[in-house]
Amino acid sequence: MDAAAETTPLLSVRDLRVSFALDEGLVRAVDGTSFDVMPGQVLGVVGESGCGKSVTMRAILQLVERPGRITSGEIRFRRDGEIVDLARLPPRGPVMRDIRGGEIALIPQEPMAAFSPVHTVGEQIIEAILLHGHRWGEKKLSRKDARDITVGLFRDVGISMPSQRVDAYSWQLSGGLRQRAMIAMALSCKPRLLIADEPTTAIDVTTQAQVLALLRDLQAKYNTAIIFITHDLGVIAQMASYVVVMYLGRVMEQGPVDEIFHTPKHPYTQALLRSIPSMTGTTRVALPVISGALPHPFNRPAGCPFHPRCPDVMERCSKAVPSLRPVTPTQLASCFLHHDQAEPS
Ligand code: SF4
Repeated sequence: MDAAAETTPLLSVRDLRVSFALDEGLVRAVDGTSFDVMPGQVLGVVGESGCGKSVTMRAILQLVERPGRITSGEIRFRRDGEIVDLARLPPRGPVMRDIRGGEIALIPQEPMAAFSPVHTVGEQIIEAILLHGHRWGEKKLSRKDARDITVGLFRDVGISMPSQRVDAYSWQLSGGLRQRAMIAMALSCKPRLLIADEPTTAIDVTTQAQVLALLRDLQAKYNTAIIFITHDLGVIAQMASYVVVMYLGRVMEQGPVDEIFHTPKHPYTQALLRSIPSMTGTTRVALPVISGALPHPFNRPAGCPFHPRCPDVMERCSKAVPSLRPVTPTQLASCFLHHDQAEPS
């Protein structure tokens, strides 16, 4: 890859909005989210449940289910030297189908649900490889080639006896093995971007550590960019080089992981970090509780979404929404504390 390509984002999400029209009212699940993912970067997206992180990722893959829909914004993805706006592509059209599962793959929270119980995991991965076979080179792949690739992937993700295990059904595998098989499935089409949505939620702590180490190794081996979604700040510290902090569908702050952890600028990030007892080494800490309740989705606060819980709230905070803007050469925050009084929101 040339130097310019390395410094050009692989994915640029700009002012993305996703709403759900429910009988009770409109839920703005994603309300103007923007961030970039660079080639080979591990981006951590952190936030409490309901902050819009999973919906944002489903929007990238055009998998938002009705009554949800992308109402505005851009999702620019770089493929073959061209920029494609995924938000404008028909969700079931050929280009989106080729990108989804091919160039962008998802590791879901619950791998049990991702595999069909009536086919072996190997058959399902072989089908995915044959569907996106061109990503493995010019030669048309035979079923035997696809099976050999699957066995190799099982070996890469640390599944012992790979040539036997490809013939297992998902319900015959332990939680940890299923998660590894799911990672093999996600890698089967050589994606340039992997979206891992809380991938260690459903497995025990020891296996979680192994899966995180595995993802780090695979990222280094394949130079795949990863968006790592989690509510666990410890996982972010271990995995990510860059962090996006989300709250009520908006990005509160983003920047390199060291700066976000050591010099957070946004009161929400500061509150998250203040509540953590220790943040050292491999200590894993779930997202702490911050004073005040997360507002109900139908009662979204006017102005800055964090203002009802913010210790630094000012008069203007309930009247206007602060935009995301640079607050240091490398950090961005959406907070009036860092806006000039004279500046517009
Ligand atoms: Fe707090 Fe105001 Fe900043 Fe929002 S804009 S985080 S309410 S200081």
